[in-house]
Amino acid sequence: MKKKRVLVTGGAGFLGSHLCERLLKLGNYVICTDNLFTGSEDNIRHLFHHPHFEFLCHDVISPLSVECDQIYNLACPASPRWYQKDPVYTMKTSFLGALNVLELARTTGARVLQASTSEVYGDPDCSPQPESYRGCVSAVGPRACYDEGKRAAETLFFDYRRQYGLDIKVIRIFNTYGPRMSMDDGRVVSNFIVQALKGEDITIYGSGAQSRSFCYVDDLVAGMNALMNSPGDFTGPVNIGNPEEISIKELAETVIRLTGSQSRLAFKELPVDDPRQRRPDIALAKRELGWSPVVRLEEGLKLTIDYFKRLINC
Ligand code: NAD
Ligand code: UDP
Repeated sequence: MKKKRVLVTGGAGFLGSHLCERLLKLGNYVICTDNLFTGSEDNIRHLFHHPHFEFLCHDVISPLSVECDQIYNLACPASPRWYQKDPVYTMKTSFLGALNVLELARTTGARVLQASTSEVYGDPDCSPQPESYRGCVSAVGPRACYDEGKRAAETLFFDYRRQYGLDIKVIRIFNTYGPRMSMDDGRVVSNFIVQALKGEDITIYGSGAQSRSFCYVDDLVAGMNALMNSPGDFTGPVNIGNPEEISIKELAETVIRLTGSQSRLAFKELPVDDPRQRRPDIALAKRELGWSPVVRLEEGLKLTIDYFKRLINC
């Protein structure tokens, strides 16, 4: 069978680098593009020698021209700290990035997948969140550049399908963690683990009663790949995440226990518009993709702790 040429935008990031690895293992030719805004060559250095891997430094807000059969569009800053640093750029990346990969799919005939997010549900007033839930999102708050950018990208994907018959897939990713999370992008799992390993205070924003549901990266990437290779009439949007819900305070206590740290909890101000809860309804993914997560939270946390231990040499 002919090797597929697969383009991964944002391929030098946390999820993108794991995806590139998986695609290579499955026998594809991988073209990874990234402008290294939040990603790093360190995440993909081990792939540089691979004969079927290619890296192009490219900003997704500019059009790109690459022969390919499949496109995964992951390029976008993903942590609140980074996407709020330059909100105008975040909006441009979301919208123009989507437009550019869709145009590329139109000229090449490639199938194109958008990495959307549970943030399209905003601060949800139902739990768990099914794909039919339309969300509770502020259009003007500090998270809007990301939330509304991703919502606009989803709209564009479905309009390209209706207007031009494009072969699209949309995945809504819930909080994902694992090795190669950036140490300083402010996301909760990396923050807590690094703080615990260094014996620093664990910074809990608000009371810590807000909840999230954390998916291990291998499960997420398997779900993304299953969606890409699903029958053409199944477009999503589909939730991929782990429904095992935990409060942020409980997460802090779990990390302290697993690392054997002496760190103490320090309560800080809750960021504006911080969602109170998030938990995916994954019935659709189970039914249409035969996918469900297999890595339990403590197991995934241990693997992630080992990674950060190696990184900071302790
Ligand atoms: P990440 O920051 O590690 O990866 C994003 C990558 O995109 C980085 O390598 C960055 O340099 C690159 N990038 C950013 N702007 C770009 C631009 N204009 N042009 C080219 N490259 C650009 O984050 P991640 O967690 O790996 O997220 C990957 C994708 O998954 C993002 O689209 C994000 O919105 C989505 N997502 C992630 C999560 C999660 O929990 N990790 C949850 C929901 C959605
Ligand atoms: N959070 C926290 N301490 C931190 C970092 C984050 O209490 O050091 C909280 C944050 O306020 C949010 C949750 O953890 O309620 C998840 O935050 P993250 O930035 O990882 O993801 P998102 O808010 O996008 O779900």
